[in-house]
Amino acid sequence: MANVKRYGFVIDPTRCIDCRACLVACRAENNVPLDHTRIWVHDMGVQGTFPNLTQQFVPYNCMHCDAPPCVEVCPSQATYKRPEDGIVVIDEQACIGCGLCIPACPYHARFINPETGKADKCNACLQRVEQGEAPACVATCIGKARLFGDLNDPNSEVSLALREAKSVTRLPAVGVDTGPNIYYINADVDATALGITAPQMPAADDFYKWVVLPGVLAAAGITFLGQALAFARQLSKGESEYED
Ligand code: SF4
Repeated sequence: MANVKRYGFVIDPTRCIDCRACLVACRAENNVPLDHTRIWVHDMGVQGTFPNLTQQFVPYNCMHCDAPPCVEVCPSQATYKRPEDGIVVIDEQACIGCGLCIPACPYHARFINPETGKADKCNACLQRVEQGEAPACVATCIGKARLFGDLNDPNSEVSLALREAKSVTRLPAVGVDTGPNIYYINADVDATALGITAPQMPAADDFYKWVVLPGVLAAAGITFLGQALAFARQLSKGESEYED
């Protein structure tokens, strides 16, 4: 297991200036439609009393959870956690656009892409990471508030930042620890202000609608097609016998 990577983000809200260059870079890199986003910078508002005022900005995105509820609910296994590095990805070919993963994500990191009809979210810019580059949001962050790398590598930038941090925290979902792989350093982050909830798992009738029913219809369709082919073959065989 020592060679297995565990990619994750380390975010230092004290370094974020809310310039939102990361949002623009993510959109451009991943063709994210204008009325959606894969990443956020949450303005926590002004804190303290005058003249000792501060303002905190908290960047976040998909947490690439160790136990992702989105993977658990996906009926077509389109969403999965890559065993080689832990990035949670969506196979667009396999996604049926049912949307069950959207309420299942306690971080509200997913949406249905109106251009593809498929589930969409941060994939850590896999296309860049596989070329040895940082995700677009990390590469463009001028304050170095966002870092990304292999948490299993003690010499990586993220491991170094975690070792040197004044504080380290993760943001658990309500009622369940999904093992989020964004680590917040040097700041207390109010998870409730970010709107993190419990995962909303699908009801039995949703499973019937999206898993059982399509399966039954597909099986019925295949059976009907098989019968029709057999009948057509029988007919043509009968005709040729008659002609003989
Ligand atoms: Fe899935 Fe949401 Fe966790 Fe990302 S943050 S892995 S979308 S449950």
